[in-house]
Amino acid sequence: MTYQFSTGEELILLCAEHNITMAEAMIRAEMQSSELSREDIVDEMRKNLYVMRESIDEGITSRQLTMTGQLGGDAELLTRYAPKAIMGEHMAQVVAAALAVTEVNASMGKIVAAPTAGASGILPAVLIVCGDKKGFTDKQLIDGLFAAGAVGMIIASRASISGAEGGCQAETGTAAAMAAAALAELCGASPKIALTAAAIALKNIMGLVCDPVAGLVECPCIKRNAIGAANAVLSCDMALAGITSLIPFDEVVLAMRSVGRLMHPDLRETAKAGLAATPTALNIAKTLQNPSLDA
Ligand code: SF4
Repeated sequence: MTYQFSTGEELILLCAEHNITMAEAMIRAEMQSSELSREDIVDEMRKNLYVMRESIDEGITSRQLTMTGQLGGDAELLTRYAPKAIMGEHMAQVVAAALAVTEVNASMGKIVAAPTAGASGILPAVLIVCGDKKGFTDKQLIDGLFAAGAVGMIIASRASISGAEGGCQAETGTAAAMAAAALAELCGASPKIALTAAAIALKNIMGLVCDPVAGLVECPCIKRNAIGAANAVLSCDMALAGITSLIPFDEVVLAMRSVGRLMHPDLRETAKAGLAATPTALNIAKTLQNPSLDA
């Protein structure tokens, strides 16, 4: 009996056949391919959860200046502002947590790449902050990470999770899709509805280019994680409300791959176009290359 899957449709069928969740399907697939025990696999994911939580706490409670000193402290600012936030305090806390993790990443702190370091804020922010609100246990959150892993694995094998290959849609878009699906499953959604959440999240960010200022994972990456986290929560809520995606998840993934391939190389992490080519960005890049110009 095989628990391997490479498309959303296969995952849905596998879950239906064995009456299991996406998280359980991912655990069984991992046990089969790695030949590790369930205990070892779950323990490893528990460690990831703890690192994710620590990175949120670190980013929110202390001002994280990025390596270049150009950015940082936004997580702290938004956390203080959250009670007055027009988007609501809870959503502001989710977004602040996403900022926190990516600020920690940009200051060379410890994070979990989920699926990449550049997009590391979205999944922890959504699962942990929404999990706190919903009262999810660590065991549930670990299941959420496995469900997210199932979605990330499909996108990685069918399209890409790399900004250099598919633009920012492939990085922060994948992270948002993973988070939306995982949160939906933790809220009791079927795999089909969870993948609808993932499809909506990925569609919302289709076409987003990768244009890091000075080639560094700071601007616009940190704020794109903020938007990615909000996107994931919104997409999850839409799917849970019964809103469907006209284009199914698997087709959205292939469309994202095709958009990535059509994207000019200057817009795929080379820092030659988009925000990276603005006068301000070029000045920053010049100053970083030659700090004596920063007078
Ligand atoms: S802009 Fe590029 S480097 Fe930054 S998060 Fe997006 S894909 Fe990653």
